[in-house]
Amino acid sequence: MTEIIDGNAVASEIRDDLTDAIETLADAGSRPGLATVLMGDDPASQTYVNMKQRDCEEVGIESHHVDVDGDAPPEELYDAIADLNDDSEVHGYIVQAPVPDHVDYRDVIRRVDPIKDVDGFHPENVGRLVAGDARFRPCTPHGVQKLLESANIDTEGKDVTIVGRSDIVGKPLANLLIQKSDDGNATVTVCHSRTDDLAAKTRNADIVVAAAGVPELVDGSMLEDGTVVIDVGVNRVDADTDKGYELVGDVEFESAKEKASAITPVPGGVGPMTRAMLLYNTVKAASLQEDVAVDL
Ligand code: NDP
Repeated sequence: MTEIIDGNAVASEIRDDLTDAIETLADAGSRPGLATVLMGDDPASQTYVNMKQRDCEEVGIESHHVDVDGDAPPEELYDAIADLNDDSEVHGYIVQAPVPDHVDYRDVIRRVDPIKDVDGFHPENVGRLVAGDARFRPCTPHGVQKLLESANIDTEGKDVTIVGRSDIVGKPLANLLIQKSDDGNATVTVCHSRTDDLAAKTRNADIVVAAAGVPELVDGSMLEDGTVVIDVGVNRVDADTDKGYELVGDVEFESAKEKASAITPVPGGVGPMTRAMLLYNTVKAASLQEDVAVDL
């Protein structure tokens, strides 16, 4: 029987655990605050920001939001970031990507105070992660680790193939999984669009993590029996639905399920975990800034 790993259930447990930590902070007179910054009016980004605000309300994190006009000069965004760096009620914030073309996202990230960088994208936090001393694990890779843990899948000594080398998913996940740690100790292969014979790399893996942004790229023919399959992808494809589209992952679920020992669905797999881990990082940021120890 293939185990379908339920990301909604695991995320819900994580949120429950966070409420205890939030109470500890409240007892010490502090309430964690998360801000979202949105430059422009991209509808998908607006939806993500709304979801993050709703998530905050549900667990008792104060949510703040800053809108910046999509046509404004980059300096307007930088000013908003400087204000958030100075705001003691905001313990963490994210600048929703993508930013408009005339703004360099790397310049934006460098301006975020690393102690408030709950995405974990600032070079200081990336460096700490690579050095095995992570302050904030980026939300999606951390969520993948938590999903594996929840399904009692030990990564030690396992061959893991990650399809995708982005700065937000593939690279940090690879770095986390090779750490000499209880939730690392894996042997990791990182694939990308120039990888030769992708199927050979996925067939060689005990665990496949698909994060390529290509609908149903990985199918059952690319997997050995018993592989654990984590599907990070979220892709809109045209479909005969009310909305005119449906969401599919980077894994062809039905054929992959035939081979997998455990697999995450899309939606309901990694997505809810990414959201939960942002809340986790916000509580951690508050704990660090308020100097209040919490159980995370
Ligand atoms: P990026 O576009 O930044 O990176 C995609 C990576 O996949 C690149 O490294 C690219 O290679 C590689 N790739 C593309 N095509 C192929 C191919 N045919 N074979 C092998 N590798 C390929 O994407 P993200 O990492 O930001 O996101 C990946 C997916 O995950 C998307 O569907 C996104 O929506 C989803 N996502 C989901 C999240 C969630 O919470 N569930 C969170 C974040 C992302 P190259 O470097 O050579 O271009």
